[in-house]
Amino acid sequence: MYLKSLELSGFKSFAKKATLSFTSPVVGIVGPNGSGKSNVAEAFRFVLGEQSIKSLRGKRGEDLIWNGADQGGRANRAHVKLTFDNSRRLFAGIDFDEVSIERVVNRDNSNEYLLNGTAVRLKDIVELLGSAHIGATGHHIISQGEADRILSANIRERREMVEDALGLKVFQWKKSESLKKLERTEENMKQVESLRREVAPHLRFLKKQVEKVERAEELRRELTELYRHYFATEKNYLSREKARLTAELQAPEAEMRALEQALAAAKQTLAASQKRDHQSDAVVAIESELSNCRNEKDSVGRELGRLEGEISANRRTIDKEREKQKRDEFKTVYLKDVEEAVTALAPLSTLTNPRELFERIITELKAFITKHRGVTETSLIGEAEKEISLLMTEKNKQEEYWHKIAQKEAELVKRYDELQKAIEKEKDTDREAEKEVFRIIARENEVRSQLTGLRNALETILQATQAWERELAEAAQICGREAVAYEALESALDHSAGLDRAAEADTRKRLERLKIRLEEAGAGGGAEVLKEYRETEERDAFLARELEDLTKAKAELQQLIGELENRIDSEFKQGIQKINEQFGKFFVLMFGGGKAELSVVREVRRRRKSDEEELSETLSGEVGSDGEMTLAEEEVEADGPEGLEVNVSLPRKKVKGLMMLSGGERALTSIALLFAISQVNPPPFIILDETDAALDEANSRKYADMIESLSERSQLILITHNRETMSRAGVLYGVTMGADGASKLLSIAFEEAVKVAK
Ligand code: ATP
Repeated sequence: MYLKSLELSGFKSFAKKATLSFTSPVVGIVGPNGSGKSNVAEAFRFVLGEQSIKSLRGKRGEDLIWNGADQGGRANRAHVKLTFDNSRRLFAGIDFDEVSIERVVNRDNSNEYLLNGTAVRLKDIVELLGSAHIGATGHHIISQGEADRILSANIRERREMVEDALGLKVFQWKKSESLKKLERTEENMKQVESLRREVAPHLRFLKKQVEKVERAEELRRELTELYRHYFATEKNYLSREKARLTAELQAPEAEMRALEQALAAAKQTLAASQKRDHQSDAVVAIESELSNCRNEKDSVGRELGRLEGEISANRRTIDKEREKQKRDEFKTVYLKDVEEAVTALAPLSTLTNPRELFERIITELKAFITKHRGVTETSLIGEAEKEISLLMTEKNKQEEYWHKIAQKEAELVKRYDELQKAIEKEKDTDREAEKEVFRIIARENEVRSQLTGLRNALETILQATQAWERELAEAAQICGREAVAYEALESALDHSAGLDRAAEADTRKRLERLKIRLEEAGAGGGAEVLKEYRETEERDAFLARELEDLTKAKAELQQLIGELENRIDSEFKQGIQKINEQFGKFFVLMFGGGKAELSVVREVRRRRKSDEEELSETLSGEVGSDGEMTLAEEEVEADGPEGLEVNVSLPRKKVKGLMMLSGGERALTSIALLFAISQVNPPPFIILDETDAALDEANSRKYADMIESLSERSQLILITHNRETMSRAGVLYGVTMGADGASKLLSIAFEEAVKVAK
């Protein structure tokens, strides 16, 4: 026994506190019409959380509160307390032997719920009751006149009632929660998919950028390698040449110094000579002039060397530029040319046909491009050429000057020779000294020209070294420090090996080409692109993982839903089978024969073609197949949800179907079905409010017999006027209503009850 007591105060007609103790498996409540018996059944619904005031025969919450009588004041609140015996842990979650549920409704319509004296929410009460199979549809509380609710319900409602009675509601609830989750998951999947679609083009773009950056990086590596090699070989060449020339210069320079000293000494001897005459003065003068002239020629020669060095540096620039110019996309077009081309388009403005105008413009533009394809001189080339021309002018001037000096030198030598011959003839005594002077001067000439050659060569090398240094700076800028770290490579070179200048020139060309390709590849921002690519890729991967998780979750939910459906389906079908066994037995017991069973049918949906409006109608399989509604404009779709149909056939009667039953037969059938359901999955208690009202004496007995067998598994509270039913109750309560309109409750004996009931 699970029910212990019900306490009412201020609830409907129960003005004062009244307590029913359920000390017997069958408790009867008797009393005259209107005394408040049904209010007791409603007190049960109320305390169990019923939300429909209408089903409690009221309009507002206030209607549930004792409204007073002529003499007595009204109550401010209705309070009902239901106490359960929980020693067998009917409510598994509550570790007390007694569980009390209370509900209070106040005049301001507010509700309070209490569980063992503690305020809780309605939700907590509903969950708690659900766990004990005291369902919300109240299949175990049959109100007055409601006995055939299960017969008058449509097939879907009927299925719901049976599912609830079979304890399948919890699975239905889980299923609907899972379906909601599935819907959310699918929504999320759509969102993630659309996010991925948004990311995709950006990712593709970034990937191309990254490939470009990588290509540039590859080129840079190649260039770095080549630079190092080039710098090492070039440096090796330059330092070797410098060392060689410096060494080679030493001997002639020393000799020159010696010759200069010797000449000075010889001149002194000559000057000291008493026979020195005007001729020897002339010799000295010419010789001094000659020396000046030669020094000048040397310096001009050096200047020429420098100019040549600069000219060749400029030529290199031009070569490099031209190499670039061979590629069309680097073509430079003068602004002046573009302006001219635009001016040339002006006459076209007289054209009125836009198509013709457009075609003419395209033709002109193509002509312009064709005209400017081919090597165009850039300003850089122009500048270099201007520089070369300036240098060439300077060089020509210097060369002219050099020739002039050379001519002057030749003249001086000639005069000198003539003078020498004359002197030779005339002067014998000074002959040796003079000879010595001439010899020294001759040697000086030789050594000087040797020195000039070597110095010019050295100057060229120094110029080349400067160019090399400039290139080093440029390389460091393009490729970083790695490109100029040539030292190790250089020291590893074989310094005695021959120098292949042609190969070196080749390397230089390759260097220029690589530089251009690197420029084309467009470096810069590489690190940022890579970072963004990596971030975007990570985001995409994250979304992919998310999608994978969602897909997995979806599959799991679908599986869970499938499992729940299978479980509901199989338990439902098994339940129906068991109910049918009981239903058949009770039915035969009631009617002394015949057949009754529940069958699973599908709801038939009809769609009206004319207005496309979907109508869902519940029709029994039989009626549906009878084709009662075969109107021309209707189309039948047999895929509605499953429901439950009640099939009965009475003994000795041809009629079939619920519609054909008499009121009493209907009452008996519904009682048989209710009892069958309660036998299969017994609820803790059943309240039957005058379910037996329509029964004749014979059937009342059968009803009472069934009550007894039901009470073996569920506690029964019977509101009745029926003597037979009363006789089966262990405890009887009488409800009376005094002049004050308030219901009173008293425990009475059977004989008294029979009297009270009347
Ligand atoms: P029957 O045997 O005819 O079914 P019953 O014993 O089931 O009758 P109920 O329907 O439970 O009687 O009681 C109805 C009585 O309760 C009515 O007299 C009604 O006036 C009274 N009642 C209902 N609500 C209130 C209220 N808020 N305050 C006072 N009395 C109320």
